[in-house]
Amino acid sequence: MSRTLLSHFTILSNSSRLLSSTISRGRGRRQARVLNLVLPTLHVAAAGFRCNCTVSAPESEISGRSANLKKKRVVSGVQPTGSVHLGNYLGAIKNWVLLQDTYETLYFIADLHAITLPYDAPQLAEATRNTAAIYLACGVDTSKASVFVQSHVHAHLELMWLLCSDTPTGWLNRMIQFKEKSRKAGDENIGAALLTYPVLMAADILLYQSDFVPVGEDQMQHLELTRELAEKMNQLYGGRKWKKLGGKGGALFKVPEALIQPAGARVMSLTDGLSKMSKSAPSDMSRINLLDPKDVIANKIKRCKTDSPPGLEFDNPERPECNNLLSIYQLVTGRTKEEVALECQNMNWGTFKIVLTDALVNHLRPIQNRYEEIIADPAYLDQILSDGAAKAAELAESTLTNIYQAKGFLRRSSIV
Ligand code: ATP
Ligand code: MG
Repeated sequence: MSRTLLSHFTILSNSSRLLSSTISRGRGRRQARVLNLVLPTLHVAAAGFRCNCTVSAPESEISGRSANLKKKRVVSGVQPTGSVHLGNYLGAIKNWVLLQDTYETLYFIADLHAITLPYDAPQLAEATRNTAAIYLACGVDTSKASVFVQSHVHAHLELMWLLCSDTPTGWLNRMIQFKEKSRKAGDENIGAALLTYPVLMAADILLYQSDFVPVGEDQMQHLELTRELAEKMNQLYGGRKWKKLGGKGGALFKVPEALIQPAGARVMSLTDGLSKMSKSAPSDMSRINLLDPKDVIANKIKRCKTDSPPGLEFDNPERPECNNLLSIYQLVTGRTKEEVALECQNMNWGTFKIVLTDALVNHLRPIQNRYEEIIADPAYLDQILSDGAAKAAELAESTLTNIYQAKGFLRRSSIV
């Protein structure tokens, strides 16, 4: 298990500082390319944890050998906007299942993020439930991981506001997702939440003193903002300044690392190999949703964009669709890149599309069956979400108390 995990992810450590300016200048495809070229592969041995990267942690945690025995913490979430698709699954949820055996894991349904763009209010609660059921159907095990709804833990919003006052608007204005999504939505009409949601994302992560955040490449820039914000807050309010206000001193926030898996980090659209597969993309033909029936999957693959050169190959920049479809096939079959390259090198699109459809249908069928069972038992799901929120709220409270104290707030007296 530890070996699997070891080879599975790339950790973005302090090297991300080097990347951030490149990322902020880069866009879409260039961003992904730059990351692949520049990122050093650092290794984590999951059992008896070894990390070649520099993890900045609160001093209280660094001191004392017993802290080493504590499981590292991983936090992640998916927005209940539209249907969970193959990109969310291969880029995030499938990896969560691996991580839950080794780390203390918190997986939330990011409903507060789902309102950053216009949305359908009557659908939100149901989409939130369905997303939770998908987590479980994909193998998230609540005896190991806490699963909860973001808005059920009020500390996310409180911490966001406390971080907002120290987040320069310049940092937010340069976020690629803000630029792209606001352009698509029409600049005049966008809500302020689209600009500020990276601060909410920072709160989601920093609230739990997370060590690692598994993200697709589309979230790298937000993760880097989170890291910079954590460092800034530690500098502004931590250490001796916090001690003077009655705190324990040291760092207020752990500076989290990104966990990126090399394959699946960016699953591309079926209709455009240069755009990422997205819930918010207008055409449903651009994505495979995890709950798509067999005939829908077959139709989407049949009609997906391909090209004309003979044979199939990975990593040809002139053939982004080919690389994407082969990568999807590799991930759902669990084969190596070399095996897939060999198997498919002489295939034509007609043959490959049938093979890929079968692989997708076979991979998704057990997930879909489990999903139906889970969604049919609302009391079970409610209990899981309630237990998850209680556990998360308990962890969140101590960070929140510390930050209020360090920022100089008068706390409500416990004497009534
Ligand atoms: P939206 O279009 O509404 O932003 P989304 O499809 O980008 O939706 P999110 O809920 O924003 O999905 O992202 C949830 C997780 O899935 C994040 O960790 C993100 O990095 C990952 N993810 C999203 N799209 C992809 C993709 N195409 N490939 C790999 N990972 C992805
Ligand atoms: Mg997104």
